[in-house]
Amino acid sequence: MSRFLIISNRLPVQINISEDNVEVTPSVGGLATGMSSVTKLFKSRWIGSSGLDKSLLSAQQIKKVNLALKKHACMDVNLTREEVELYYEGFSNKTIWPLFHYFSQFVEYEEEQWQAYKRVNQKFADVIAENMEGVDKIWVHDYHLLLLPKLIKEKFPNVTIGFFLHIPFPSYELFRILPWRTEIIEGMLGADLLGFHTFDYERHFMSSVRRLLGYDINIDEINTPKRIVKVDNFPMGIDYNKFNDAALESQRRSVRDRSEVRKELERYYLLYPETKFILSIDRLDYSKGLINRLEAFEYFLQEYSQYRDKVTLVLLAVPSRIGVDQYQQMKSEVDEVVGRINGEYSTINRSPIWYFYRSMPFENLVDLYNYCEIALITPIRDGMNLVAKEYIASKTDGRGVLILSEMAGAAKEMSEALIVNPNDKAQIADAIKQAIEMPLEEQIERNTVLQNRLKRYNVEKWATDFLNTLDNVRQDEQKYLAKRLTASSKNKILKEFEGSNNRIFFLDYDGTLTGFVDNPQHARPDKELYELLDKLAENPKNRVVLISGRDKGTFDEWFGNKPYTLIVEHGVWYRHIGSSWKMIEPLDDSWKDSIRSALEFYVDRTPGSFIEEKNYSLVWHYRKSDPELGHNRAIELKDEMTSLVANLNLEILEGNKVIEIKNQGINKGQAALKVLHAQPADKILAIGDDWTDEFLFSYLPEEAVTIKVGMAKTVADYKVENYEEVRSLLQKLTDVEV
Ligand code: UDP
Repeated sequence: MSRFLIISNRLPVQINISEDNVEVTPSVGGLATGMSSVTKLFKSRWIGSSGLDKSLLSAQQIKKVNLALKKHACMDVNLTREEVELYYEGFSNKTIWPLFHYFSQFVEYEEEQWQAYKRVNQKFADVIAENMEGVDKIWVHDYHLLLLPKLIKEKFPNVTIGFFLHIPFPSYELFRILPWRTEIIEGMLGADLLGFHTFDYERHFMSSVRRLLGYDINIDEINTPKRIVKVDNFPMGIDYNKFNDAALESQRRSVRDRSEVRKELERYYLLYPETKFILSIDRLDYSKGLINRLEAFEYFLQEYSQYRDKVTLVLLAVPSRIGVDQYQQMKSEVDEVVGRINGEYSTINRSPIWYFYRSMPFENLVDLYNYCEIALITPIRDGMNLVAKEYIASKTDGRGVLILSEMAGAAKEMSEALIVNPNDKAQIADAIKQAIEMPLEEQIERNTVLQNRLKRYNVEKWATDFLNTLDNVRQDEQKYLAKRLTASSKNKILKEFEGSNNRIFFLDYDGTLTGFVDNPQHARPDKELYELLDKLAENPKNRVVLISGRDKGTFDEWFGNKPYTLIVEHGVWYRHIGSSWKMIEPLDDSWKDSIRSALEFYVDRTPGSFIEEKNYSLVWHYRKSDPELGHNRAIELKDEMTSLVANLNLEILEGNKVIEIKNQGINKGQAALKVLHAQPADKILAIGDDWTDEFLFSYLPEEAVTIKVGMAKTVADYKVENYEEVRSLLQKLTDVEV
């Protein structure tokens, strides 16, 4: 059975220590529940911090804690008080948390905290390394461990790593503010699968990758130099039945057994049967928008005075990060605004806000969900917001209205709720009015759709979906690994080529024999490359064919006097050694004027892009443009050209940061076949890096050995990482016996 590790900052357990006794109980949070269903399928272990300050425990107690944790398949990462302060309270909660929630004014840029964050991520990696026996899959969770995927991958390249971010990923404009942005992105890209709650967070992440690292992105796959990383969104669900069943059970309780909260709500209904309870539950965090919400409620009381004595806001603010300045300040502000509103609108018998600053036991929470007619959940930013989902799951008779901020990830799946902008007081006030007045049938209709969705996509489904995708990624990876040119396959090729008297090498130029540079004119062959190709061509049993998208002039200049066959413009022209350029097929270029003016329009609107003119093609280059803009313009351009090129008998080729428009039916594969027909060979090797080389790989006879440079999908037999690896292979081929 394969082994599986789950990694998160905190372990999903609660530890109680009294004298000699250590008690470990599993916690009931959403993540732990979701995981419990998948962990049954694998032999799994959870690695994280227990939250204990071990310096306060005796050796005996520490031993007992570790033993008790082991029984729950947990492994503690020991963090010192100082580490918790700098890594957790510091970098995680004072840098990443505010930045990723768009509160840039609260972001701290402390080098010391960043260093601690790096150290603790490494500490996690070290504990993982000690527990790797039999492990083939690891799932890392959340913003405390953004560097961990890379640290694991470097040490264990064959293990499949998933990473899920439980908070938003901000737009690039925010993310770029971080001095350590590139290291963070690279850390995350150590994973094979990256999961986010919503498509927007995924999109923001992709944009940062494109802009910071310039990697090619193919819908939801990132082609890093070494691997393909898959990115997808998996909106986290809740344990639906737990809330629904608990609500049903509460309804069945005798009066004596009812929770205090329920008794109080019922007493109130008896006194004031018209009362509508509006529920607000969150951690006391600036991202939750409590002040805005209170002000919107105040505005509602002002604007709709007819409802003043008919509504009560139940405000449950759960204490959080108490030591942090902004949180303390927020607490005073909330106290003040609640005081102001209650001072203004209370009567002898009732006040408009019931304010609780504490957490509630589960039964009370469910009773609040179940009995409050309206939930008002209006975070300024929230990765998902589970409270909104739990409220709907607890509505056993389908009644109730959810007012939800559009800034919560949950809003993407809960469009049947009343969706509001958390900064728009008037809109929120109107939504409260609409909720109060909403007919029951409409409430039930909306909630039925929501409930069906939440039931189906619950936390168990979320976890299994993520892991199934991770398994698929692993299978793709295995397929890739199967194509990786290993030392033994290299030796096999060398052996086969050794026995031949008539070998031909089709070699693409850019990206294959040399790396990419911003200006294609600067990609001149270096001395090492000339020497390598000369040596290869020197052997009378070898034929070297350079086959490129470049123009004749450039290749004449670079290789004009070399003993290689040249094929340029993706197969329009060829030139045998010592002879002049010939066209592979007669072509017409009268189309160029009309296409050129269309391309110029794109050059004008895309700074850094330019047109390269070849004899029988026009190429729009956007490597030097803003990556995001270039990518979007390339899509637009392709779209616009599609009908135009069909009418003119042309085709569009998409290469690495280039779009080429050229005559139809001309490609590297056909050109290579022409050369082969003129003079057959018994051993063929073809190497190329981009889309245009796929023609070469697929047109050549079956027995040809084909090699793709880079990680993208290919029909080639093998893959290598970069041009340096190509050169090293060619070097070995030059040594093959004459
Ligand atoms: N919650 C709780 N006790 C309380 C209030 C809330 O355990 O007194 C739980 C609630 O059931 C929910 C979680 O806290 O599962 C809050 O999750 P959410 O995604 O809404 O916000 P977060 O605090 O993760 O930002």
